[in-house]
Amino acid sequence: MTRIAKDISKAIEVLNAEDVVAIPTETVYGLAGNIYSEKAIKKIFELKRRPLFNPLIVHVDSIERMEEIVSHVPDKAKRLAKAFWPGSLTLILPKKDTVPDLVTAGKDTVAVRIPKHLVTLELLQRLDFPLAAPSANPFGSISPTSPLHVEYYFGDKLSMVLDGGDCENGIESTIIGFENGKPVLYRLGSIAMEDIINVIGEIEVKNKKENAPNAPGMLSRHYAPNTTTFLVDDVEAFISDKLDKKIGVLLFSKKMDNPNLAHQEVLSSSGSLKEATSKLYATLHKMDKLDLDMIVAERFPDKGLGKSINDRLERATKK
Ligand code: AMP
Ligand code: MG
Repeated sequence: MTRIAKDISKAIEVLNAEDVVAIPTETVYGLAGNIYSEKAIKKIFELKRRPLFNPLIVHVDSIERMEEIVSHVPDKAKRLAKAFWPGSLTLILPKKDTVPDLVTAGKDTVAVRIPKHLVTLELLQRLDFPLAAPSANPFGSISPTSPLHVEYYFGDKLSMVLDGGDCENGIESTIIGFENGKPVLYRLGSIAMEDIINVIGEIEVKNKKENAPNAPGMLSRHYAPNTTTFLVDDVEAFISDKLDKKIGVLLFSKKMDNPNLAHQEVLSSSGSLKEATSKLYATLHKMDKLDLDMIVAERFPDKGLGKSINDRLERATKK
């Protein structure tokens, strides 16, 4: 069994011994290791079965710590950091030579953020090194938002999960980089695009569904349950000829009046996209264990966090 504990000192011990610890953040649980330890970083890639060409996000506890690993911070990046850190925004910035290639997959940029979780902020403050931490799930599957999700995925292979409760936001960070000095949004996430635009104005979006992207979160099939999943505009119409199947439906705010459904989940009865986002992955994890023939999700409103939910659900569907 994985050791699930609230013991920050124990996590420090494990990390100082170049091993890996799953850490809580406000987005999802991360699989963390010392960025300067080849042993720890290799273990992260192995555990996740993540291809080595996919770079990791580095977590720091302060701007000063960030400046130790990045060589230049564009003005708009500074404004974004001021507005959203600590928080669910990842910035892709030019890296210093001291950052190992294994972490950045040989790129001359590094992805960095200050997470907004008291346990992990304390952990980072007490460590002498930043932590590389991709989501704590096997490559391609649903990200974990509780310690038990992480234990389910890795069992004995992982020494420790630092328990910080359920993740508050429940979806990955929004990723922004710069191309020729202009900001580019690479991954929709926990911070809505409208909020980004409020701070730095219009931004180009390259959150495309691709088959060979340089960012794994952009793969056309990612964040996927094992159960065949569909994302549709009209759930009732879609299931009307499939009622011999064991169907689970994932809905935004209203239950359906249909006695043939095997299971229903409503993410926010008050219609809050924030609440729906925070429950999305935990609900998919739960539905995936119900032995359903299919999960049918309703398309969410195409605004704010609804865009991020739709993005993840689209990638959860089989093409
Ligand atoms: P995860 O932590 O599992 O959510 O994945 C980290 C995300 O950050 C992936 O989509 C990476 O490809 C992306 N990423 C990390 N570093 C870079 C970088 N230097 N350039 C572009 N994308 C990056
Ligand atoms: Mg991930």
